[in-house]
Amino acid sequence: MIPAIAQLKLASAMMTAMAGAAPVPVPVALGPVVAEAALEPVEVALYDENMRVHAVVAIGHDGSTDAATTAELTHLFRCRQSGREHAIARKTLAMLADVAEHYPGKEIEFVSAYRATRSEGWESPHRGARAIDFRVRGENLPKLRDWLWTKYTDVGIGWYPSEQFIHMDTRPGLHDTAWTFTNGVNHYHPYWAELARHPAPAKQERKPGV
Ligand SMILES: [Zn+2]
Repeated sequence: MIPAIAQLKLASAMMTAMAGAAPVPVPVALGPVVAEAALEPVEVALYDENMRVHAVVAIGHDGSTDAATTAELTHLFRCRQSGREHAIARKTLAMLADVAEHYPGKEIEFVSAYRATRSEGWESPHRGARAIDFRVRGENLPKLRDWLWTKYTDVGIGWYPSEQFIHMDTRPGLHDTAWTFTNGVNHYHPYWAELARHPAPAKQERKPGV
């Protein structure tokens, strides 16, 4: 029979050994905390390239905003030509929150959002208040473009290399569409989009004659 003290020492030594070998267990309490963090709205820093206005707003991961923020965003993203306002689609705002979270502390510079001019076609996602043209200054925009294209479905992602901005829109129930805008024309099914969703298989190491 092992004395009580020795038993304690043995148990303690075993626990120390286990702690060293086993992965650190996740405290049960962390689960709900993480879940709550996911529900926390994302701080989104915006910069209006045309009006040179800065704004910081809180947008939920699902694109939800409180009444005051909805009003602020609706005004920020108004049609620059007509001055008309339209609330931006929740799913598009959800994408915006994801972009902000992907680039912590970075400002999202937007070029255009809601457009309600006569020249804007009825099918235009800008007229539908579902589109935002933007960039994240100093970041690799092709990388951001590919990230968006691989992360979502039911979207339109346009790449404007000359203007250095990305168009993103949500189009529920419609086909995903990717394009590159060069020389005044949209080029659909661009190479980058094919590559991003269907990465080329790794090249086989093959020596000549073997
Ligand atoms: Zn656009």
